[in-house]
Amino acid sequence: MEQTNEMMIEFDSRSCNESFARVAVAAFMTQLNPTLEEVADVKTALSEAVTNAIVHGYENEVRKITVHCRIEGQELFLAVTDKGRGIEDVAKAMEPLFTTKPDSERSGMGFAFMEAFMDEVQVISAPGEGTTVRMKKKIGRVAGEYMD
Ligand code: ATP
Ligand code: MG
Repeated sequence: MEQTNEMMIEFDSRSCNESFARVAVAAFMTQLNPTLEEVADVKTALSEAVTNAIVHGYENEVRKITVHCRIEGQELFLAVTDKGRGIEDVAKAMEPLFTTKPDSERSGMGFAFMEAFMDEVQVISAPGEGTTVRMKKKIGRVAGEYMD
């Protein structure tokens, strides 16, 4: 059976906790023996999801964000959850350059970055209930796998 390992953190939706969440996930994923680039990719994707929870989900009100992290074999699964405003049209929200805050230095590229840096991104959201962004990335190479 593939080896699994799991952790969950919950923290206040303050922007100073973004770096805490990034470092916690980076530390947890070291057991997969990732490259520096893989760690950077995961940190970037996680930052985008956590920032979205803070600025859009909670609109800067201080509430709780959870980051759930699971390793299965060589795969890393992340889930970032807020219980905030939620998203009405997920497909539209995920379009590159789409933003509901165009005047506050947001460029609408958060989901595009998550999709670029992770293998899969799935958004589960309901207006008034909150949002969970689930992401998956295969880390490193399984022994015996050939290089492309
Ligand atoms: P950028 O990430 O480039 O600063 P952005 O945050 O507007 O800009 P995305 O991260 O791609 O762009 O998100 C697109 C839109 O999806 C947001 O403008 C917002 O309307 C909505 N959204 C994203 N995450 C959440 C969330 N957790 N809760 C509520 N709405 C969200
Ligand atoms: Mg964003």
